[in-house]
Amino acid sequence: MNKGFLDAHIHLWEFCLFSFFANLEGVGTGEELVAALRARPVEGWHVGVRFNQESLKDRVLPDAAFLDRAFGKRPAVIFRTCLHLVVMNTAAMEALGRYAPNGIFLEADVFAILNEIAARLVPEPALIVKSGLAELEKYGITRAIDMAMDLTKRRYFEQVDYYTTDIRLLDEALGFKIFLDGSLGARTAALTEEYADDPGNYGLLNYSDDELLALVERVHRAGKPVACHAIGDRAVDQFLRVMARSRHPKDRLEHAQCLRPEQIEALAEQGVAVCIQPIFSRELPWAARRLGPRRLATSYAWGLLLEKSVRLLAGSDAPVDHVSPFAAAKVTSSLKGAHHLSRAQVLDLFGRANREFYDR
Ligand SMILES: [Zn+2]
Repeated sequence: MNKGFLDAHIHLWEFCLFSFFANLEGVGTGEELVAALRARPVEGWHVGVRFNQESLKDRVLPDAAFLDRAFGKRPAVIFRTCLHLVVMNTAAMEALGRYAPNGIFLEADVFAILNEIAARLVPEPALIVKSGLAELEKYGITRAIDMAMDLTKRRYFEQVDYYTTDIRLLDEALGFKIFLDGSLGARTAALTEEYADDPGNYGLLNYSDDELLALVERVHRAGKPVACHAIGDRAVDQFLRVMARSRHPKDRLEHAQCLRPEQIEALAEQGVAVCIQPIFSRELPWAARRLGPRRLATSYAWGLLLEKSVRLLAGSDAPVDHVSPFAAAKVTSSLKGAHHLSRAQVLDLFGRANREFYDR
């Protein structure tokens, strides 16, 4: 019996919330952008998500003045697809009591603004969740595991599978989520060699080994596994060191985008589950600038991981990227060599591999 796909790494509330707002993915001009925002007002607000100025003909980021001209006194807000940047018009800034030159806000402000807008515009989070989960089913996803649940978001779900970032939810959670480093996009992923496009920058580790080990041991003592976000190879080194000292059979490594060959061997040997995001291979063109050709050969190298018998799981990380396993398969099946995963291999990870890890 086909039980459908399992998405082993998603951000459910944010995914559900995004399907409530205007989808700006692929808009090619300022006029198209305005039309998409106008088509989907919520309580008089025009909120758009999944925006990327790289898809605009002129690649120019719209600012508050642009949105003021188009929307006047009605609040208008655009979230960039990476969730590291948001643009608001004057009416939106006034409504939220936040001001920035050009209406552009970055990093932690983006999540705060998303929460404030959700609290204001979403009177019934349960309805949003219901339609978001229905959207998942359209792609054949019948089970999805949230990777950053907290107490606020937990109230929006009746029953939900999740890893938590809040130790108070650990009893109910499948495990505990820990961020060891940042992202390649922001050049905060921890690397052993400097960024090829930013000499002197090696990225950042969030914990010392001792701090991380103490946290991991605390989770393990509670009988739960950890899921460690590690994108750069220096973060993966730290993960391997700590795993050698404290292990739960279901511990997971998340992302593992930048790996050295011997790390791939070590991951296979330790039998640790590695949750990859095949759709992130779309990043290869700009990841190549961050890492340079030598490191890129064993980075995003999902095919090589599979060949070396690393235990792989698959997730979308939606809404950061597209939720569809088919979209992910389309990306990786067109790549060559170590970066290649066939359509069947990707769908097998989202189906059989994830199910074997979670349904038994
Ligand atoms: Zn994530």
